[in-house]
Amino acid sequence: MLSLSCRLPATGGTAAAKTTAAAAEAAAAQTTTTAEATGTAESAAQQHAAHGATAPASSAAASTPAAAATAAARAALGLAHGREHPAAAELLRNLLATGAEALGDGEGGEYRLGARMLVNAAGPWVESFVKGNAKRDSRYGIRMIQGSHLIVPRLNDDDRAYILQHQDGRIVFVLPYQQRYSLIGTTDRRYQGDPSRVRINDEEIDYLLEVLNSHFVRQLGREDVVATYAGVRPLCDDESENPSAMTRDYTLDLDRHGAPMLSIFGGKITTYRKLAEAAMRKLEPLLPAMGQPWTATARLPGGDIESRHAFADRLVGEYPFLGRERAERFASSYGSLCLTFLDGKQSQDDLGQPFGGGLTRAEVDYLVEHEWARTSEDILWRRSKLGLRLTSDERETLSRYLDQHPAIDMSGPLAKVS
Ligand SMILES: Cc1cc2nc3c(=O)[nH]c(=O)nc-3n(C[C@H](O)[C@H](O)[C@H](O)COP(=O)(O)OP(=O)(O)OC[C@H]3O[C@@H](n4cnc5c(N)ncnc54)[C@H](O)[C@@H]3O)c2cc1C
Repeated sequence: MLSLSCRLPATGGTAAAKTTAAAAEAAAAQTTTTAEATGTAESAAQQHAAHGATAPASSAAASTPAAAATAAARAALGLAHGREHPAAAELLRNLLATGAEALGDGEGGEYRLGARMLVNAAGPWVESFVKGNAKRDSRYGIRMIQGSHLIVPRLNDDDRAYILQHQDGRIVFVLPYQQRYSLIGTTDRRYQGDPSRVRINDEEIDYLLEVLNSHFVRQLGREDVVATYAGVRPLCDDESENPSAMTRDYTLDLDRHGAPMLSIFGGKITTYRKLAEAAMRKLEPLLPAMGQPWTATARLPGGDIESRHAFADRLVGEYPFLGRERAERFASSYGSLCLTFLDGKQSQDDLGQPFGGGLTRAEVDYLVEHEWARTSEDILWRRSKLGLRLTSDERETLSRYLDQHPAIDMSGPLAKVS
């Protein structure tokens, strides 16, 4: 059993699981977004693109932001119990140090970890993690390709998605987004620099408006754009000249020089389960007791519902004070998990303090206690897109409320050294 102590740079006594998970999450938000909107917007759009309006029940929770954040944190940690290995200790030390630095919120302490290997699923940072944190040579490189999106008031009343074929051969999606909006994207351009600093530029805004205006009767201008966000695709570098033609496939690299480290280059969210299975197959020789794949028919948390639509109907029936729009949002974002905070509520007042946009204390407390939300940005952009609806005063009120909220216990897999 590997046993190591990691001292986080800051002082304080909160569990490292919290520190590391939150750091991974904070960085995840930066991976695919501008300062405001987050990678979950991308995920939601991809859910729409992949499943349309008739998503299976299990996909309702697949887009749950906290599930994604937890998965990212766990994958980045690659925690497993095993034999002692100094190289693994060093990797973990670097990982935690990076995480703590990224969080920088004054928390810290000393923690003991057990691990046999690492899975490096750091997205756009995969290559820099191998070279910088793990201090190893990387056999593969990534090419960063920026993709940017526009959010505009809803263009169509139905749930249809459009694929627009532009004269340059590229396609642009127009997707129903967050009930009241349409999402237009994406661009495809080479990006160099810090992935956390990616931002849409004027040229991309004009390009997306031009594609849209050449297909739709209704013409939009810059004044119609409610919000934008940009992200970086970490594509495995196949030396193609054309970003759109570069492979979206993934490459798995198992480095067994020292502690085993599996790095994931490239990939798509729609192939996440296949990728996970392939990753586990790579690790099988190192984990001989491993069982067979079982996730193909497994439901994700909250996915034990017939369909999002049917579940929203049920919510409207049982909790009429929610209203149809909010019931649909709960069905999409939480699936059956929303019953955790709706149970026993009989009126709007029972949901507690309203923060605007249909957000109330009951939902906020749930996100803090069960989905690791810590700041108003976590709630308004990373766990939902309610930031599109709240006024700045309402956002401020939510921040003040969260500042007073008691700390969350996220002890998880890390044990604090007494
Ligand atoms: C603009 C754009 C459009 C896309 N369109 C599609 C699409 O249409 N369909 C599709 O299927 N896919 C699409 N994708 C790709 C999809 O978003 C990715 O495949 C998916 O998000 C990858 O998930 P991941 O968990 O592997 O990596 P990420 O979501 O990138 O997460 C990596 C995580 O590692 C963390 N991390 C990094 N370094 C460290 C460290 N040192 N310590 C701890 N944590 C660390 C980061 O904080 C982050 O949370 C698109 C991506 C972009 C950017």
